[in-house]
Amino acid sequence: MAEYDADVIVVGSGSLGGFVALEVAKAGKSVIILESGPEIAEWKITDNYHRSPRKFNWNDPFGDIPYAPNTYTPGYIDADLGDVGQIPGALRSVGGTSRHWTGATWRLLPEDMKLKSTFGIGRDWPFSYDEFEKWFTEAEYAIGVNGDNDADLSGQGLGHTYPPRSKPYPLPPEAKPYLVQKLQVQYEKAGYRTEHGPSCRISQPYAGRPACIGNNLCQPNCPIGAKHSGVHVIEQAVAAGAELRSNATVDKLTVDGKGRITELSYLSPKGDRTTLKAKVIVLAAHAYETPKLLLMNELANSSGMVGRNVMFHPVLNMDFYAEEPVWTGRGQFLHGSIMQRRNQKNRAAVPSARLDYQNVYPVLKITEEVLKPRRSMSARRWTTRSAIVPPAMSPCRC
Ligand SMILES: Cc1cc2nc3c(=O)[nH]c(=O)nc-3n(C[C@H](O)[C@H](O)[C@H](O)COP(=O)(O)OP(=O)(O)OC[C@H]3O[C@@H](n4cnc5c(N)ncnc54)[C@H](O)[C@@H]3O)c2cc1C
Ligand code: SF4
Repeated sequence: MAEYDADVIVVGSGSLGGFVALEVAKAGKSVIILESGPEIAEWKITDNYHRSPRKFNWNDPFGDIPYAPNTYTPGYIDADLGDVGQIPGALRSVGGTSRHWTGATWRLLPEDMKLKSTFGIGRDWPFSYDEFEKWFTEAEYAIGVNGDNDADLSGQGLGHTYPPRSKPYPLPPEAKPYLVQKLQVQYEKAGYRTEHGPSCRISQPYAGRPACIGNNLCQPNCPIGAKHSGVHVIEQAVAAGAELRSNATVDKLTVDGKGRITELSYLSPKGDRTTLKAKVIVLAAHAYETPKLLLMNELANSSGMVGRNVMFHPVLNMDFYAEEPVWTGRGQFLHGSIMQRRNQKNRAAVPSARLDYQNVYPVLKITEEVLKPRRSMSARRWTTRSAIVPPAMSPCRC
């Protein structure tokens, strides 16, 4: 009997785990991908979403899976969400969370990685943007990213591309939705610049994927596969020889005499246990489940920092009524942003932020507002004109 079941076992089939498995399989090594969620076809997600009354819950079309709860499953996140009140989204299915991500593909700025030395706050990364740049480029070419090669994404009006790039974007920007064109004109009058935001909802066919046709269904999933999804990577990895085992929830990790994790075991939905060994085990189970696995098994935590400092970005959405039709919901979700607040000199006092133009279908929110019980006609007039949506109701789009 072979000592190992595979050269490498990858836990988690999201974009991260998928790319690891793909590279290992391409190198001719054996690799098993273990994924706690099920395989769900794209058409089924689209169909479920079509029928769902919970249109702003993008986890909903992926189903309520008892053995693989997602972050919207009641009781999954046991934390004080404070004033923000937003539950971060994560999926449990083959392909992982990028199946319903927005596909906004921002690079960090050099300053983001040196906050302490540049602005005197936070901590510096142990390496610089220049050292990291080639990996941004490789990722952009791997998933297919549209971008404007002249855009200053620091928002400071530098007049040249920023952050620096060693190669152009693999794909040119997509068509600008009418809504963004109209808003850009209005905001420019007030001194705000609109820059193109890079995305992986591709503007031209790329790596076997068709170009985006702008039907605005990027979340919960792109029905035609124009948006990068971890599912595409898993398909490539399996074609290259990787073995995928879905419905396999890893819970036990075992170290060998050298302190390396070389054995694990997982449960099937019925509770059957399987134990596997590999020369290398990669944990790619998302920012929630990877630390949870380590903590459950009391591993790799000599610093005491495993599971701490998780960060996500809070979002405040604001809606408004336009004086003329702006045809929201045609074209892509996100195209342009105002970035003047992204890298100001006073970042120590005023945190970095971005103002995105979200080109989303407004029907649901308007209907909800109109159907709300009213105390009086004057109250009704105020609510329907302003319709500012509190953050807890506003899902993140990026
Ligand atoms: C609504 C939404 C929009 C987003 N939009 C953007 C965006 O525009 N731009 C951006 O950069 N980021 C965005 N993000 C974040 C981004 O999607 C995630 O950071 C990214 O997909 C994480 O990839 P991953 O491979 O690390 O994890 P995941 O894709 O979550 O994959 C982890 C996999 O591990 C599996 N797993 C977990 N535990 C176990 C276990 N014990 N055993 C076996 N398998 C397990 C899970 O089922 C899952 O499939 C968005 C997120 C959400 C929710
Ligand atoms: S707009 Fe439509 S085709 Fe384009 S990425 Fe989104 S869902 Fe896919």
